[in-house]
Formats: sequence, C-alpha cells, structure tokens
Amino acid sequence: MTTAVALKRYEHYIDGEWVSPAGGAYIASYNPATAEPWYEIARGTKEDVERAVKAARAAFENPAWANLSQTARGKLLRKLGDLIGDHADELGRIESLDNGKLLREMGAQLRGLPDYYYYFSGIADKIEGAVIPGSRREILNYTLREPLGVVGAIVPWNSPLSLASSKIAPALATGNTIVLKPSEHTSASLLELMKLVDEAGFPRGVVNVVTGYGEEAGAALTRHPGVDKVAFTGGSDTGSMIAKDVGARLGRVTLELGGKSPNIVFADADPHNAAIGIIAGIFAAAGQTCIAGSRVFLHEKIHDEVLGRVIDRTSKIKIGDPLLDDTELGPLAIHEQLEKVKKYVDIGANEGAKLVYGGTPPPEQPKGWFFQPTIFDGVNNDMRIAREEIFGPVAGVLTFRDEEEVLALGNDTSFGLAAGIWTRDLGRAHRLASKLNAGTVWINMYRAMAPQVPFGGFKGSGIGKEGGWEVIHDYTRVKSVWVNTSDAPTADPFVIGR
Ligand code: NDP
Repeated sequence: MTTAVALKRYEHYIDGEWVSPAGGAYIASYNPATAEPWYEIARGTKEDVERAVKAARAAFENPAWANLSQTARGKLLRKLGDLIGDHADELGRIESLDNGKLLREMGAQLRGLPDYYYYFSGIADKIEGAVIPGSRREILNYTLREPLGVVGAIVPWNSPLSLASSKIAPALATGNTIVLKPSEHTSASLLELMKLVDEAGFPRGVVNVVTGYGEEAGAALTRHPGVDKVAFTGGSDTGSMIAKDVGARLGRVTLELGGKSPNIVFADADPHNAAIGIIAGIFAAAGQTCIAGSRVFLHEKIHDEVLGRVIDRTSKIKIGDPLLDDTELGPLAIHEQLEKVKKYVDIGANEGAKLVYGGTPPPEQPKGWFFQPTIFDGVNNDMRIAREEIFGPVAGVLTFRDEEEVLALGNDTSFGLAAGIWTRDLGRAHRLASKLNAGTVWINMYRAMAPQVPFGGFKGSGIGKEGGWEVIHDYTRVKSVWVNTSDAPTADPFVIGR
C-alpha cells in the first residue's frame, strides 16, 4: 500500500552494514491498534539471503570471531545484554507499536531480556568436551564440542526480540554466526537491536538480518545449503515444511511450534488463584502465545464457581490502546489473525459449544484489530476449537470427573507444548506432571519462563529446546579424538590376531 507520508525505512543488516534490497522493493508494516502503516522494511529475495549467508560464513571463518576465546565471546554477550537493558524501554515501545501487546508487558519483557544474554554469557566459557576412559591405557580419547557454523533463524510476530534472543544468545555463546529473518509484520525491534550488536563490538557478519516475506526471504534462508542449522519459531505447518527442506539436505533443525495446552483445575484448587491462572493463560497477550492455556479443564464440582470467577474478571478487562498504563488487552497483531479468530468463533458456535462471554470485536474500538476475550463452555475434546490452535483470546472450557479422565483428555491432542495443573494435592500434581505429554508443566502457576529453564514442545509442538543448558547441545556438534600415546611401533594390521 502507498501512503502520502514518507515512512521510516529500514534496510537489511548484512555484514555489519545497512544494505538496500537487491530487488529494490519495500514492505509497509502496520500498527495494529490503528491499522495504519508506520515504517517499511526491505523486501528480501534470494539474492539478499545469498549475500547474508556468505557474510555469516566468512565471519564464522574469520579469526576475529573463530579465534576469539570463549571468555571473550561471553564478554561480548554480556555487553550486548547491558545495552539491551539501557534501551529496554524504547525497544519495548517499538514492539508494542508493532504487535499490539501492552507496553507494560513488552517493557517488562524487554527489561528482563538482558538475563538471557547474561545466562549464555556465563555459559560461553563453560562449554567443554570430555576425556573418555577407553579400553586401552595408551589411547587418549577426548571430545571437542564445536559450533555448527551458520545458523538461520526465523521468528514470528508475537514476541520478536525475545524469540530472536533465545536463538541469538546460544548461537553466539557456542561460536556460531547467524542470519535472522523476522516476520514481515514485526521487524523493527530486531533491526534496532542490530545497532546494539554493532555497538557491543561483534565482528562484522556474525549477526545479520534479512527482512521480507516468509515464503520469499524465509524460504530462501531455510533452503540455503550454506545454512548448517535452522532454528524456527512459528506455526506447525510452516515448521513441518521447513523440517522437510532442512532434512532433505541432512541439516539440523530445531522447531518451536504451536500448542493447544490444557490448563487443569481440580476440585481442591484455590478457586481465586485458578481463575486468575486461567485468565493469564489465555487472555494475556490477547492469547497470541504458543503456550496459551486454550483448553480449560474444570472439575465438575468447581466448574460453576471457577467459571463464574473467570467470567466476572474477564468482563472487567479493559480493552484499548496498548500504550496506555491501564489497558489490559490490546489488539491482535495482524489483520489475518483477527479474521482467523472470528472464523474459529463461528466454528465453535456451529459445533455446539456455548458462548458464555465475548465472541465479537469490542464495539467501543472501531479502529484496529481488536477482539473481545471470548469463552466457550460445554466444549468437548473432539471439537475443532479444542483441537486446532486459534492463537487468539478464545478459551474453551471442558468439564471432567476424575484424574484418569482429564489425563487422557489432556494428552489427546496433536500438540505437546505446555500444561497447567491447579491442585493442593502434592502427590497428584507430581503424578500428572510426569504423565502429561507436554514439554513444560506448571503446577499452581502458568506462563512462567526463564533463561535457565529448558523450553520446547513434544509431538506437533516441536523439536529441540530453547533455554537452559540443554540448548547448547542444539547449537554444537561433538567430535571424538583418538590419540595414540604409545612409543611402540604401529602394529601391522595383517598380523593382528595371529
Ligand atoms: P508462521 O509459521 O506463518 O510464521 C512464522 C515465521 O515463519 C514468520 O517469520 C514467517 O514470516 C516465517 N515463514 C512463513 N512461511 C515461511 C516459509 N515458507 N519458509 C520460511 N519461513 C516462513 O506462523 P505465524 O506467523 O502465524 O506465527 C504464529 C505461530 O507461531 C503460532 O502457531 C504459534 O503457536 C507459533 N509460535 C510458537 C512459539 C513457540 O515457542 N513454540 C512461540 C510463538 C509462536 P512472515 O511472517 O514474514 O510470513
């Protein structure tokens, strides 16, 4: 779309420089609270990706990066973390304007982001191989843990900097170089981060950003034979397609995909805490989080009480401008998402689920891509609204009778990202935590994440982890070295065993 007012223009960031797109085209990015464009990005093509991967390969081999000590790499990450801390408020504001999430939430997320860099900065010089006791005294066996090479990273629009950082920090701590492709809807904060990467003193080409459409720039990156590993966050269909492409060239891939996470409330749970946990699980960030607790399981004995509390609090949620302090629910980040949510609300109603709250855009917000927090009761696990990811503020409430039933229903999904359990029964909580087929289980809490804690889904929710020491395995390869320390002459292979 063309506009009368010249928009701020961002170029690609390749090899430490701002580079115009080879095709000369730009894409407008919209503020979801006003539905108006506010900047434009370079439309990346194969040629731009080629250039970025080449720069990242050269940087990987450049002694300025390759020969840097692990401690020095860690120091660069720490410096970058400090700079992000210094600029957290402005980065948070950009993300809020870009994806419609609350400024309060993005500000807090960005102020916490340096911790990701500090954690991996600390790990950088603790990555070790091992000396392995072999069967023969004179042979020394050891392993080297090495970087993979060039990482291609794709991130979606819901939390661009946080999701990019969970790839940048471990990739660099382990000595890789990286080319990132953010969503075309939310590229500004990552491009602003590149100014800080520069300032922190990373050698040129270690971090690169190519912007543009997923099917164009994204696909060119994930299909590039010079990319040793792809780290992807996004939808399951895209993830599966990417895994196929990367698998065909026997590359490495980690996938952080969607979810349909059960948030389970037993009869003995604290009803207030559980109600708040349900609301936080599905309405925070307008439900646009992969970990959204979108299937709410209420025990039949407390169904009415907890649902009543949830509806009561939901009816008081203040919808509006995400930049304002008292706003509690902002718009959906992109227009397509609003249409998708509307479609699923129709599907739910047609399937026979009972709409008990919301279900339409709020009448008081004529502009922007807003949707009311929406609750369906009487959902069963076979309905599409219980099986497919909506990625919006839509909760489906299911009723259960006992632990066995809710465990079977909770696990009856193609996803396996997260689960919540609300109970005062310690034994039951741990029993279920071990039996739920989900990469993260929260007990009497929901939606917490930390750099130290591995995060990643099972089944259709992904492959590999982000966060915690585990992720180091996903960004390194192990080489085994055999050393003959003996002075004895090498045995003739044809006399061995005679
Ligand atoms: P998509 O899978 O459509 O897009 C995700 C990213 O992939 C975007 O940067 C997109 O670019 C890019 N992309 C799209 N097509 C291709 C392609 N053919 N090749 C390479 N890259 C491509 O997901 P959504 O944008 O709809 O994001 C929401 C999804 O992300 C939800 O399903 C959600 O569950 C998941 N998600 C998972 C998280 C996790 O950690 N598990 C966290 C957050 C979200 P562009 O936008 O420019 O088209």
